Amino acid sequence: MIEGAIVAEELTYSYNGLLAVDHVSFSVAEGEILGFLGPNGAGKTTTVKMLTGQLRPKQGRAYLLGMDITQHAKKVQGQIGVCFEVTNLYEQMTAVENLKLFARLFGIRRFDAEVLLERVGLAGRGNDRVETYSKGMKQRLMVARAILNRPKVLFLDEPTVGLDPTSAEAIRNIILEERKRGATVFLTTHDMLDAEKLSDRVAFMNQGKIVALDTPHNLKQKYGRRALKAKVLSRDGELEDREVPMDTPETPRLVQELFSKEKVVTVHSEEATLEDIFIEITGRGLVE
Ligand code: ATP
Repeated sequence: MIEGAIVAEELTYSYNGLLAVDHVSFSVAEGEILGFLGPNGAGKTTTVKMLTGQLRPKQGRAYLLGMDITQHAKKVQGQIGVCFEVTNLYEQMTAVENLKLFARLFGIRRFDAEVLLERVGLAGRGNDRVETYSKGMKQRLMVARAILNRPKVLFLDEPTVGLDPTSAEAIRNIILEERKRGATVFLTTHDMLDAEKLSDRVAFMNQGKIVALDTPHNLKQKYGRRALKAKVLSRDGELEDREVPMDTPETPRLVQELFSKEKVVTVHSEEATLEDIFIEITGRGLVE
């Protein structure tokens, strides 16, 4: 019996000798949101393609809902939702027509296109052709299409990239609603704020390997360095920044020195971000 909605065992893929995904193993529990972070070319999309049955792993296995994806692709694909960054909507058709076509492909008879469109903030626009939609509207329609079959597992690849704040927020809310409904969400992103806000756990991918996987809280405890950030007044009246690392044996002395030797104007503590931690682990940033 395979435990977990998504299970990857030693998943490996190479494109003409270029190792894109290198023996990756992890599992995602039912109802969990996993944020999958990594810079361009880390191997995230290739991993998603193997998990969703679009690429056959060169080595290793992927199980979705307990089924080996390579053996049960059709059955699994009916129970998952997939939303990729590149839009593949029928531009000449209306939003409702797009949704109905997709529903027919999945053999879904009962669904309310208007309710679905309302959920993604496209109420009243369902009978407009998709070619008249903005990028954000298309992205929201893609999300509507991905959740149309009430998927047990939802794969979202960079769902908020390049979106205006309102569209991005609408999509974040949908992700949380889907989790509440019981769906497992696999969220690929290099937006660390999205990852932090939404994910129960995050996986860091770098050069085809998973280099860390834990809750944002645990990652911060393990790798993140907290710091005191201060603004001090210099002799010539300029504001200057000072930083004192927290949680080190030197901290009390450095804090005392800061306050005795400088004119401190403001002071606050700052936690490491997921981006800081990614840099600490890999030596490189999430966005190049
Ligand atoms: P991004 O954030 O840019 O989407 P990613 O983490 O999703 O990046 P992948 O698209 O999985 O990364 O790419 C992993 C590696 O495989 C990269 O070096 C990429 O150039 C290579 N690659 C991806 N698709 C192909 C392909 N169809 N043919 C050849 N090489 C490919």
